[in-house]
Amino acid sequence: MELETLTFKHVENLWDAAVADALDPVERLVYRSNLLGTDWRITNTGGGNTSSKLMETDPLTGEEVEVLWVKGSGGDLRTAKRANFASLYQDKLLALQDVYANFDERGPKTPAEDAMVAMYNHCTFNLNPRACSIDTPLHSFIPHKFVDHTHPTACIAIATAKDGKRLTQEIFGDEVIWTAWQRPGFELGLTLQQICRDNPQAKGVMLGGHGLINWADDDKECYLLSLALIDKAAEYLVQRDKGDETFGGAKYKSFDPGERADKLAVLLPWLRGQVSQEKRFIGTVETRDAIMQFVNSHDAQRLAELGTSCPDHFLRTKIKPLYVDWDPETRDLASLKSKLTDGLEQYRKDYAAYYENHKRPDSPAMRVSSPTVILIPGLGMIAWGKNKSESRVTAEFYNAAVEVMRGAESVSEYTAIAKREAFDIEYWLLEEAKLKRKPPEQELSRQIIAIIGAGSGIGQAVAERVIREGATVVALDLDQEAAEQTAKEVLDEIGMGIGVAGSGISGCGDIIGFGIDITDRESISAALQQVMLAYGGLDTVVVTAGLYVSPDATGHIDDWDWDRTFAVNVTGPYLVADEAARIWETQGLSGSMVITTSVNAAVAKKGSFAYDTSKAAANHLVRELAVTYAPLIRVNGVAPATVVEGSPMFPRARVMASLTKYDIPFDEDADTATLRQQLAQFYADRTLLKRPITPDDQAEAIYLLLGDRLGKTTGQILTVDGGLHEAFLR
Ligand SMILES: [Zn+2]
Repeated sequence: MELETLTFKHVENLWDAAVADALDPVERLVYRSNLLGTDWRITNTGGGNTSSKLMETDPLTGEEVEVLWVKGSGGDLRTAKRANFASLYQDKLLALQDVYANFDERGPKTPAEDAMVAMYNHCTFNLNPRACSIDTPLHSFIPHKFVDHTHPTACIAIATAKDGKRLTQEIFGDEVIWTAWQRPGFELGLTLQQICRDNPQAKGVMLGGHGLINWADDDKECYLLSLALIDKAAEYLVQRDKGDETFGGAKYKSFDPGERADKLAVLLPWLRGQVSQEKRFIGTVETRDAIMQFVNSHDAQRLAELGTSCPDHFLRTKIKPLYVDWDPETRDLASLKSKLTDGLEQYRKDYAAYYENHKRPDSPAMRVSSPTVILIPGLGMIAWGKNKSESRVTAEFYNAAVEVMRGAESVSEYTAIAKREAFDIEYWLLEEAKLKRKPPEQELSRQIIAIIGAGSGIGQAVAERVIREGATVVALDLDQEAAEQTAKEVLDEIGMGIGVAGSGISGCGDIIGFGIDITDRESISAALQQVMLAYGGLDTVVVTAGLYVSPDATGHIDDWDWDRTFAVNVTGPYLVADEAARIWETQGLSGSMVITTSVNAAVAKKGSFAYDTSKAAANHLVRELAVTYAPLIRVNGVAPATVVEGSPMFPRARVMASLTKYDIPFDEDADTATLRQQLAQFYADRTLLKRPITPDDQAEAIYLLLGDRLGKTTGQILTVDGGLHEAFLR
């Protein structure tokens, strides 16, 4: 195979010599890894690993030694940086084979094999703190300088086909050698070493039930070889694709997108309530054509029951998804719900039986037994995770699993990993240790929070505050652009690429933004429908949107402004609560609502009738809603005073009018922020604590009311005003 001159049909050669040649050898490894990780057809999020064996100067002896640089535990090839790679003395790694040979009982899954993992740390070169992956011996024991291990859907299709060995031979001749499924670890490393000895011509190994590993003595050649092998497998499958007859052909029809969205929006909160009985989940809905073809097919039930195969896949998707055999043409959601209820019960029983049948004396306790992937004809796939990025990655993995099954079934018969093997990976003590190393979940992780008024001021501050606690956030505002801007800024702040937007690594939250008009019930309902489709449910609503209309010089406002003030400040939160209540009721999970009122609700002030009376009504609305929605939903209020900073309620004109009203001298040419500061300090001086009140102060109070620490408080107004004694309640 002349790699340099090859063109690829199913993958893209992204190698840029001008870039690569300017890099040092380790950077070249990072570069190669990032290129491989960019394409989902080559490897899945968090899956696969790469290595280079490089000559380095030993800091102890000053001599040249061979060092294995290999992607460490955790992280993702697409985003990997130098720090994601472990570095180990290659000669010490090889010497571990002698240590291993001294164990009396050796072999796959023996204590001896697991004991070797702890030994890798002893081979660390130059104090590199990156934890080693269990795939380290696969890379070390292959006697070539550069090794790529990937999880390409086309290769997994061959690797999971019933006659994968024959297919591997047919496609690759003696270039790629088949090896039957074996759990990654020391023994698989030894197997690969033996394959290389027995087959000096070989360039790679098809790892049964798992993926591909290949090597070269030049890094660019290794990359091109990965592409060439994957492309070859993909082309073989495409030539034999069954088209409309895939998965036995269509059994059911899809809804048109509009009806599908309506049905999903009704179903999702109920379904979220059902799957969240042990722990709350965030959803991702997948309706792409390939998924619809699968869920609507004759074979979906049989194939779904078999479960996924590649270890990376089933650790996320659980051993199998829940498929419900429901005919969309009946349009009968009640029968769908009843089928789902039965299906979930059976799924949990099956999972408990799987655990009981395979557990070992030292197995960790059984984990959550609800499915993370649910397949419904006509509607699509719904994936669940502890946060948005996890559910998105779970969806990505099942998408890949469907591609794997499509390929395998087009040339042979798809086979899943044996349940015993699946269990021994899912409950592997090393996997458990990995889970235990993860930081604890954040306080608002698993919580979906809609913030209305998030385009500016307090609402924006709340979005920034709760996302840092792991919340899944919807930023809503009358000003759609402002809502989108908040979402964008918050995402940028928590760092695109290091955890959000699909990389599935970090536990931080997620945020989307769009428009809403809380004076219009239809607009509220439409916005909440979007929330359902984006996240699958709703736990908490925060309403910070408010309206203050400045009176004219005589202190009056016109009737229209009076109505508008009440529409936004009182009717708005009421309508929002009324619409959200339908979701809360079908979901059946505890939740919370916080409404921003004002100290003006308790203090009569000349010249702001409409605002003050509307806020007094809002205070009572908090109590009415608390009574109405107890015990499921807690409803509380936050009463700020004079939050001037960043507030749309204090435009320049109002600030200047207020400064004039209070006889405060000011520079008419000063910028708005400066004038606001001046006014804020004036207000602050009237309070007991003499400190200006900021949106962040309100956000902190709202965050406190949302979380469990005030989980037994409802129907209350928390005043955050710096101590305004006129507002003290008696
Ligand atoms: Zn792998």
